[in-house]
Amino acid sequence: MDYRISREKMVKHHILGRGIRDEKVIQTMREVPRHLFVEEALWSLAYSDRSLPIGEKQTISKPYIVALMVEAAELKGGESVLEIGSGSGYQTAVLARMASKVYSLERIPSLLIRARRVLDKIGTLNVVMWQSDGTKGWKEYAPYDAIIVSAGGPDIPGPLLDQLADGGRLVAPIGDPSCQDLVKVVRQGDEFFRTSLGPCCFVKLLGAHGWRD
Ligand code: SAH
Repeated sequence: MDYRISREKMVKHHILGRGIRDEKVIQTMREVPRHLFVEEALWSLAYSDRSLPIGEKQTISKPYIVALMVEAAELKGGESVLEIGSGSGYQTAVLARMASKVYSLERIPSLLIRARRVLDKIGTLNVVMWQSDGTKGWKEYAPYDAIIVSAGGPDIPGPLLDQLADGGRLVAPIGDPSCQDLVKVVRQGDEFFRTSLGPCCFVKLLGAHGWRD
């Protein structure tokens, strides 16, 4: 099976077709082998615009949503990015091709191990991963030019706003546990400007500054 053709169709219909315009995002979506981030039985579905199970009651995000979030992060190539919720590692791989360094936090150890293995397999070198509650951020490497939260919380965790660089962009799904609003925040000094990118449905952001387990 040549998955390049499936990826090309995915980009045409779900990425370009739904309004993603950043050339680098489009090219990256053409390149990253999404099927490798799900189990083999699901490979035939990997290039449809669907979230798919990855175990531990979690899901790989839809390609369009990944493209939308990464586009909103406005990456030019030299950035330091924090990702909350590595999950399958698919979005991590997309970010790694678009930024200089990616710091990715995941709370479930088995998912983190599997994601790391796939990222290693496809030769992704500029990602540092850690198992922890991402709602607290990762102070050690802050500030970040961009922060992407891949799970839905009641509001934006305070520590993440603190760890966002001046001029930085944060993208997070905010709202009730079933469906949320995808929010983009731009920091200017001590001010944070919020806009909405539209509705979305993510799994729960669990943690000290998210939902309680
Ligand atoms: N972008 C990922 C999305 C995975 S689903 C992908 O496409 O594969 C969201 C992930 O967030 C899950 O793996 C879940 O375990 C993780 N998560 C939820 N709350 C978290 C928290 N507080 N810290 C770190 N990871 C968290």
